[in-house]
Amino acid sequence: MTNHQEVFESIRSQLTALGLFDSRSLAMLGDGPDRRVLDAEGNEADGTLFAAVAAPMAVFTAGRFSGAYAAGGKPLRACTDDMAQMFGPRVRCLDAPGGAPACLIRGRGFVVTGRFTGELIAAAILMEKMCMAAMLSPALGGLRTLAGPLCALEHRVYLQKYSRPARQAAAGEAPVPAGIADVPDLALRRAVIEYGQHLVERRLIQATWGNVSARIDADRFLITPSGVDYGRIRPEEVVEVRVSDGAFAEGLHPSSERKLHQLVYKVRPDIRAIIHTHSACCQVFAACGKDLQGPGVLYPCAWYAVSGSKKLAENTAAVMAGHDGCVMANHGFVAGADSLEKALARAVEAEALAGRLLQA
Ligand code: 13P
Ligand code: ZN
Repeated sequence: MTNHQEVFESIRSQLTALGLFDSRSLAMLGDGPDRRVLDAEGNEADGTLFAAVAAPMAVFTAGRFSGAYAAGGKPLRACTDDMAQMFGPRVRCLDAPGGAPACLIRGRGFVVTGRFTGELIAAAILMEKMCMAAMLSPALGGLRTLAGPLCALEHRVYLQKYSRPARQAAAGEAPVPAGIADVPDLALRRAVIEYGQHLVERRLIQATWGNVSARIDADRFLITPSGVDYGRIRPEEVVEVRVSDGAFAEGLHPSSERKLHQLVYKVRPDIRAIIHTHSACCQVFAACGKDLQGPGVLYPCAWYAVSGSKKLAENTAAVMAGHDGCVMANHGFVAGADSLEKALARAVEAEALAGRLLQA
């Protein structure tokens, strides 16, 4: 029970900070006879709601948008890649959860499940974001949902591949890094990690999504490894990639979007840092396939292509050739600048602009 209490405290404090935990929230922890359901105060509660949940952890809660959306009783269809990855083609609206990773609870909020705490928190953030997109999308002409079979494939890839590093780390099985004795470009590696952590702190991403890179010189850049929690990346795990051909050395896998960063560095010699976000308000524009435009700024929406694909890199680089930022259809946002500081500022300002336009 002690371990359950610790995990519960961590879940409660993280969700409270996100505005996703209130007096009606419930957390379910553990499997079989070891399973406990705790109420918002941490006291044992009735677990009937979670009877059909097979995952080792789950939470029932509601946020501003998910509470309002659940009142309508409608399902959510995947309109961004991250939603497809975590939840598959759709999230149903039910009276109690079944075996799916997430569901809306009619008139009350939602249940999300996780195999580890980081995944559970990411799922809750994503659910709130997707309800927000569904509610605010009419102002932008409506959501453009993703095809079911594609979403099912993305979900499998997430479960089996993308989430592996974070899952191994949560289970204490993360590979031991090589050590930093003779790592080149140490200061820049540390800066890349630091800006990844800024993305988490400023709520521009959930969990391990998004990525950060910085140019070393005309033909080399450093990029965050794929699927690793930003709080756990060591300098030696930041990956050096060649601009000319995308080559990289053995070690942790570089971000799945490395090609996107590579092509942008190729077409924009003036850009020295790139930040890719999945921030909530920019994602509403992304889910509706709309340009983001404000006084003196235009961030066009690049055509959709599957996450991590060469086509996505090409579509994004085509826009970034003439702009410093870009909405990625059904995906997120990317900002480039001549420093990490300015790239982050651009991503933060884009999110604020999108929020103002949506009156979110
Ligand atoms: P990586 O963890 O591979 O960088 O991927 C995150 C992401 O945002 C994919 O689009
Ligand atoms: Zn992404």
